[in-house]
Amino acid sequence: MSNSASPVCPLDSQTSKNRELGAAPALVQAFQNSGNWKDWKWQIRNRITSLDALSRLPNPGPGTREGLANVLRRYRYAVTPYYLSLIDWTDPADPIMKQCLPDTREVTFRLPGSEDDPLKENEHMPVPGLIHRYRDRALAMVTTTCAVYCRHCNRKRQWGLRHAWAHSRSVARMVDYIQKTSCIREVIISGGDPLTMHPDKLEGILAAFQAVPHVEVIRLGTRIPVVLPMRVTDDLCGMLARHRPLWINTHFNHPREITAEAAAACDRLLRAGIPVSNQCVLLKGINDSAETICYLCRRLQSIMVRPYYLFHCDSVRGTDHFRTDLRKGIEITRSLWGTTGGLSIPNFVVDLPEGGGKAPLMPSYLLDIDGEEAIFRTFEGKIVRYPCPEGA
Ligand SMILES: *Cc1c(COP(=O)(O)O)cnc(C)c1O
Ligand code: SF4
Repeated sequence: MSNSASPVCPLDSQTSKNRELGAAPALVQAFQNSGNWKDWKWQIRNRITSLDALSRLPNPGPGTREGLANVLRRYRYAVTPYYLSLIDWTDPADPIMKQCLPDTREVTFRLPGSEDDPLKENEHMPVPGLIHRYRDRALAMVTTTCAVYCRHCNRKRQWGLRHAWAHSRSVARMVDYIQKTSCIREVIISGGDPLTMHPDKLEGILAAFQAVPHVEVIRLGTRIPVVLPMRVTDDLCGMLARHRPLWINTHFNHPREITAEAAAACDRLLRAGIPVSNQCVLLKGINDSAETICYLCRRLQSIMVRPYYLFHCDSVRGTDHFRTDLRKGIEITRSLWGTTGGLSIPNFVVDLPEGGGKAPLMPSYLLDIDGEEAIFRTFEGKIVRYPCPEGA
């Protein structure tokens, strides 16, 4: 058998190189030498949140100090020492760095049509914080807090806003709406990052949604396994396990984020009986190549995290420098089919503006079809005729 269809992942060497991140800057080294590295509360307390702290790094982010100050005035800033330690400082285009260091383009670069809330999420809320766009499922935003504020976030408009959403009165209103809306069978708990909440509070929310008789499943969206894996403690997993059926969607964007710690965090969730899937966003200069996405998805499969969606980057103001051509994702998806197994192929989707919902974008293998036959182009480019006899 020929191996010509199996791609060589050029990232292999890069990733193993990065396993020994030789030259961590002094600040990161000091962090790593702290005996508390594995304590998530220490990680939260020692997050970098100011320009002064950033300026002690080898690279505080692209732009002048004044420009970066503008970014931090407009958009919240925080990064955990753990996530910061994944940066390879010798690479000025490091994919981790681009996701977590401020960039003046967040306030200076804007493509036509980008908006704070292009999906009009804020207009699809029957009660504050609850988005009900699809009939059978509703998305509940229960916090505006995250462990790391990812620079590409499509909800960066509401970072740290003192919305009343997280208040128990507001959750009670969401529960009340869901109770009255019997077509809702799934509730997606989102934010912000729900795993930044106090576990008792989160448990109260899980229990309240689950007490609604027609709610069959709960899904929780979180980036904690990627940016603060030590938060996924046995205690937290025990609490979550009490609320199955519960599905977790996390957010790995690059294979380098799949560290031993992150894999162990996912494993603890899996052992608690909680399936973990991944939503990745296609980001220019970070993961917008077939090799990177292929390698990411294979690594995800190997840690038993199912690649669920690959998102086209929304036209959200402050993230335009991350946007790729829509055709890029289709091209990448096409190259995945035929080079890697179906369990490591996510659906490429674009969220349509004005609350149009998600549209899956599949490369097409069907060239033509009529009452007698269908004509396909195979993943290897061959033309194949497939009979569709009348009466079938
Ligand atoms: C993405 C999304 C969902 C979930 O959609 P799935 O296709 O089931 O993952 C639900 N509600 C809103 C508002 C969403 O944006
Ligand atoms: S964790 Fe999610 S919600 Fe929070 S900043 Fe990152 S992408 Fe946005």
